[in-house]
Amino acid sequence: FLYNQVQDLKGSIRVYCRVRPFLPGECNEQSTVDYIGDNGSIMIMNPVKQGKDARKVFTFNKVYGTTVTQQHIYADTQSFVRSVMDGFNVCIFAYGQTGSGKTYTMSGPDLTTEETWGVNYRALRDLFQFSKARMDLVEYEVGVQMVEIYNEQLNGLNVPDASLVPVKCTQNVLDLMRIGQRNRAVGATALNVRSSRSHSILTVHVRGKELVSGSMLKGCLHLVDLAGSERVDKSEAVGERLKEAQHINKSLSALGDVIAALAQKSSHVPYRNSKLTQVLQDSLGGHAKTLMFVHINPEVNALGETISTLKFAERVA
Ligand code: ADP
Ligand code: MG
Repeated sequence: FLYNQVQDLKGSIRVYCRVRPFLPGECNEQSTVDYIGDNGSIMIMNPVKQGKDARKVFTFNKVYGTTVTQQHIYADTQSFVRSVMDGFNVCIFAYGQTGSGKTYTMSGPDLTTEETWGVNYRALRDLFQFSKARMDLVEYEVGVQMVEIYNEQLNGLNVPDASLVPVKCTQNVLDLMRIGQRNRAVGATALNVRSSRSHSILTVHVRGKELVSGSMLKGCLHLVDLAGSERVDKSEAVGERLKEAQHINKSLSALGDVIAALAQKSSHVPYRNSKLTQVLQDSLGGHAKTLMFVHINPEVNALGETISTLKFAERVA
């Protein structure tokens, strides 16, 4: 029985697809999302094609339409987050082209409104609440770490050496996030540009001591807002931009290769091909759990990127 359970958890990968609503000022007459089924399917339509080539169906663990709330998204994420308190390692990724809603899912549009908080803050709040509820059984310690990977280089955001900062409540985390943002040391527009070209990773380390047995458990949660997945036109990108694009391309395909190898239970998992997969190696595969949110921008002019996002997602599912 136990053996089966372990087999079950091995390479446990879930893919959730989220379609963001049209934004003010976008041409909203036509959406490339034709249909969302309640069985995790999504039908994409190419408005300039006719016949059976015009439509394609993709299937994932879940698909969310434009009206889904942040609360609903978190409710479907909670079991992954809570398993960290039992000593599992978990990675939650946000994938998609720039502007498709990755940061909205992970962080939310702003920190001030709890209603629209993303997965990051809800997860931390939940971990603190859950540790309180278990106080008589387990004594927990929580620490967070914020890093970004830019051009295959790892930079600490909240503290110079990217060290672990102990936290006691959600407010501590919010304060750290603000410092992290400030340490990016660029203006708001530049921050957006930079953030779409770097992977940002919020890692939550949890250590627990079972009070009766005295045994220790250790789990860690990586919340990853990936760099934009859009392909850059080689004829347009030069210099710094070209280098960035090549690094992003390399690390996203390395991530896809790792997850696909895990999903297929392949004996060789190519972790060494990018900084991102090296950093997350201990939390990808083995008994770790992975949740990938893939994001869709419904605009017709995003169709090409939408299809390649869904193909990436289908490969790792
Ligand atoms: P990304 O991080 O992928 O570049 P963002 O999360 O910044 O994209 O989203 C781009 C814009 O769309 C932002 O203005 C964001 O507030 C808005 N947005 C994204 N997803 C949603 C959503 N589900 N509901 C409402 N607005 C959204
Ligand atoms: Mg973003």
